[in-house]
Amino acid sequence: MSKVHNFSAGPAILPQEVIQNCADALLNFSGTNLSLIEVSHRSKEYVAVMDEARSLVKKIMKLGDDYDVVYLQGGASTQFLMTAMNLLETKAAYTNTGTWAKNAIKEARPFGTVDVLGSSEDTNFNYIPKNYTVAADYDYFHCTSNNTIFGTQMHSFPECPTSLVCDMSSDIFSRQLDFSKFDLIYAGAQKNMGPAGTTLVVLKKSILGKVTRYLPTMLDYRTHIDKESMFNTPSVFAIYGCLQTLKWIDALGLETIEKQNNAKAELLYSEIDKNPLFIGTAAIEDRSKMNATFALKDEARNDEFLQACAAASINGLKGHRSVGGFRASMYNALTIDSVQVLVDVMKNF
Ligand SMILES: *Cc1c(COP(=O)(O)O)cnc(C)c1O
Repeated sequence: MSKVHNFSAGPAILPQEVIQNCADALLNFSGTNLSLIEVSHRSKEYVAVMDEARSLVKKIMKLGDDYDVVYLQGGASTQFLMTAMNLLETKAAYTNTGTWAKNAIKEARPFGTVDVLGSSEDTNFNYIPKNYTVAADYDYFHCTSNNTIFGTQMHSFPECPTSLVCDMSSDIFSRQLDFSKFDLIYAGAQKNMGPAGTTLVVLKKSILGKVTRYLPTMLDYRTHIDKESMFNTPSVFAIYGCLQTLKWIDALGLETIEKQNNAKAELLYSEIDKNPLFIGTAAIEDRSKMNATFALKDEARNDEFLQACAAASINGLKGHRSVGGFRASMYNALTIDSVQVLVDVMKNF
């Protein structure tokens, strides 16, 4: 099988060994002679998977016993609702940095006052707003660390005197961060962690129990924390895939992963800046190291460029319809060799 250079935004590239391990477990899970998808989630073999998938997250993030890890369903999109339902009593602050942030704001509004402290909507979200301060009397501050569609990323986080809630769907485990600064982190698995079908939520127990409204059982974080993420049937396959990726991340270390991601981003952005045919879409200081957005100055040649990419076995480069142009997603598992192939196509173009 010849190699496809997979720049897809999500579901996205995963390490080959992760896919191999998933395939093996589909046929024979943990020596049971049964498939991973036909055994009880309460079997001792699967409980061990869930336990390790939860504990490895804390190990990699260097978090202590004040944090809990759960794997939920409904995607990051359900977290837009759940975070607000569980945390918003009076007022919350949000930044509006793209499609996903906007959806989060929309879902929060029915629960209280939502103040948008910074927005880049005026320029089609091509930068990260920074001129704001977060007041201590907000129930929490919500931000999106990486804007998958628009190709911007927060390279620093503001001082936050209240709970810090972050949608890290598309850059989780891509860099070293002081994760203990965050009170709640969520991420749909399918961008940088595993197969679609589960959403990682890492949260501090102490922020819960402060809202007065009724919380439906399935939408109350405490339900899932109390039952160790097994209140109801979890997404067994997706979580197994996440565990394989977590092991791969743990073996490499976030420091190495960050270096690799920096090198890949540097290689691609320097070609975008050097090559007179192309232009970057996002403000230079806010460029995402995960999703690079760029365009041809002569848009009439878009199809021709995509054909040249296809001829070099490059997949998933077409930009999101709301931005146009191209988007190269360079998640952890993408190698720098694949980025070099793309850069060569751009040079030859
Ligand atoms: C993809 C994405 C989402 C939506 O995730 P779903 O799991 O499809 O609901 C939310 N936020 C960000 C930053 C994303 O990249």
